[in-house]
Amino acid sequence: MRSLGWAVRARLDNLLPPRCPLCRRYSLDTGLCAACWRGLVLINAPMCDRCGRPLAYAGPSDLCAACLTTPPPLELIRALAVYNDISRQLILQFKHGDGLHITPLLVRLMSPLLAGLASRHMLVVPIPLHRARYLKRRYNQAGELARALIRATPHGVDDGPIFAPNIITRPRPGRSQAGLSRQQRIRNLAGAFQVPPVEHARLAGRPILLIDDVMTTGATLYAAARCLSRAGSGPVRAMVVARVM
Ligand SMILES: [Zn+2]
Ligand SMILES: [Zn+2]
Repeated sequence: MRSLGWAVRARLDNLLPPRCPLCRRYSLDTGLCAACWRGLVLINAPMCDRCGRPLAYAGPSDLCAACLTTPPPLELIRALAVYNDISRQLILQFKHGDGLHITPLLVRLMSPLLAGLASRHMLVVPIPLHRARYLKRRYNQAGELARALIRATPHGVDDGPIFAPNIITRPRPGRSQAGLSRQQRIRNLAGAFQVPPVEHARLAGRPILLIDDVMTTGATLYAAARCLSRAGSGPVRAMVVARVM
């Protein structure tokens, strides 16, 4: 195969059934092979109305125990899937190397979620990387996902969601969140995000949809949401690919 030119190989690939991006077996029309598709745990009802955590059964209240005691500083949080080995691989492939080939699959799966969360004049804001990491990786995966999702999701003519990647910035590099406790994560992120003064007028009263790849404890989304609310935004919602349970 090595002697074949890239273009010839690309054409051969188009004639063969598509491959699962995670394991290279032949894929189904879901975009994954049967085994990987079974391993992807999509989050459906019943779930907490507020934070989207799956609930074991639909109870008298539609809120989980955590949201009843300390509701998050966001109006709604929704995740496509539970963070497990399959969703982790999807996200890793999306994040690193030439992972952009995962974009169409994620867009197809997440477009209905976006349609359900979007409202008029909403600003869709990917969680930014801090500058040093952005320069190293060359693109912000949350930004690429948000941009592709908006392009693919049908909405009203003029007043549908607007991709707004510059509404918040992340001036402080901050330590990696890996291995930190929930309280440490919250402290680590205090002041991590800023709304540039030039964006304050555009932000005023506007509903926001934050986009990120993984929600671990929620500390990152909470810090971004608090920063936006303090700067005068309307209600803040969030959508992630996967959430740690
Ligand atoms: Zn597979
Ligand atoms: Zn909840």
